[in-house]
Amino acid sequence: MFERVCLVHYNEIGLKGRNRAQFERRLRDNIGAALADFPIGPVECIVSRVTVVVRDPNRTLEIARRIALLPGVQFVSPGYRTAREPEEMERAALMALREAGPFDTFAVESRRSNTDYPEGSMDISRRVGAFLKEQTGAGVNLTAPDTRVTIAVVQGSVYISAAIIQGIGGLPAGMSGRIISLLSAGIDSPVASWRMMRRGATVCGVHFSGRPQTNDASERLVFEIGEQLALTGGLGRIYVVPLGDLQKEIALASPPDLRVLLYRRLMIRVAEKIAVGERAKALVTGESLGQVASQTLENIMAVDEAATLPVLRPLIGNDKLEIIADAKRIGTYDISTTDHTDCCTLFMPRTPETHARMNEVLDAWAALDIERMVADSIAGMTWREFGASGYRPPKAWPTPAPAAPVAQPDPSSPTAP
Ligand code: ATP
Ligand code: MG
Repeated sequence: MFERVCLVHYNEIGLKGRNRAQFERRLRDNIGAALADFPIGPVECIVSRVTVVVRDPNRTLEIARRIALLPGVQFVSPGYRTAREPEEMERAALMALREAGPFDTFAVESRRSNTDYPEGSMDISRRVGAFLKEQTGAGVNLTAPDTRVTIAVVQGSVYISAAIIQGIGGLPAGMSGRIISLLSAGIDSPVASWRMMRRGATVCGVHFSGRPQTNDASERLVFEIGEQLALTGGLGRIYVVPLGDLQKEIALASPPDLRVLLYRRLMIRVAEKIAVGERAKALVTGESLGQVASQTLENIMAVDEAATLPVLRPLIGNDKLEIIADAKRIGTYDISTTDHTDCCTLFMPRTPETHARMNEVLDAWAALDIERMVADSIAGMTWREFGASGYRPPKAWPTPAPAAPVAQPDPSSPTAP
């Protein structure tokens, strides 16, 4: 037996008992799902690792890199699985060491999870270390080696690896429940969504476009962003709600400086409606304190007042440069910086409120027929699936509530029944 494998390491801190078994199964299933189109064999849990047998050795690195994008993965080591034969182990160790990049020094670390193997772990390390030294001429350094070769002897086989590809950490997708993300095509909200996926949440995005008052450019960009986010296995659907006409209605009926807050509150209400159908337990937005005029504490309060679910803001304490670095890392930055008009730039007042007074916001809000607006939004929305592992979409949307009357019918009006 001499096979290429990827060894998937996760962070074990805090993993105990039932929790641990669930974590491992999830991670194993998510890896299997992410690699559906790759040439792989079985994906299995062994002691503190998930192993993936690679059928086409030329694609080992590509497969390891793909796995490294999954939440819950600390790092991936492309390596070898051999029989418990001394020569095979040495040959694999040499190949693993050479693949791991340039080195002047190395160390060998061995573990046995089965005591039925005749050689002790120290003896294995010494024997393989001596072989590697003889073959490469490199020095041994046990405290700070350039490369560490690890050997795990388990029942029936041995796993040997050296190279390390860093993962994103976090928890496997599907471990932490469902969240609805207010997903623009900007830089911030894709990063906020990704952060929640990294913590194991399954996210469904809702994007508000300016259609029919604008074209559908932002919708196309948000789907492209979705393709990137879906690499985590944590993106269920993206809903698109054309908001243009409702924004126009709000703009005509409300004080200009409060418009943006009223649009945002409406977005929250629509997102909550979707959350009911999705059985989601929270919303997420990409706001960062003080980043733009609309993200002051007063305005955050004025928007949150419309919400009943917790509104999570994972970027609230981040600087823009940190958010940009994450956006680049997850592959959404270039998409987000493509020119587009979304509903945010539509019907923008010249001086948006930066420190909203709650009573003024509530007065303006009370003058709008919000129930009907939410029902119209739900009736007009479309969506696309992004294949999150274990995600089951709602069976159907409840028929939108009948539009509430704007005012009591006036009996003297000629159109009244
Ligand atoms: P982003 O970079 O995420 O677009 P932003 O810096 O443009 O954020 P705002 O316009 O204040 O900031 O938006 C704050 C948050 O409101 C966004 O992060 C997002 O969660 C939500 N949001 C804004 N516009 C939309 C939209 N068109 N569709 C869905 N959510 C939106
Ligand atoms: Mg934006």
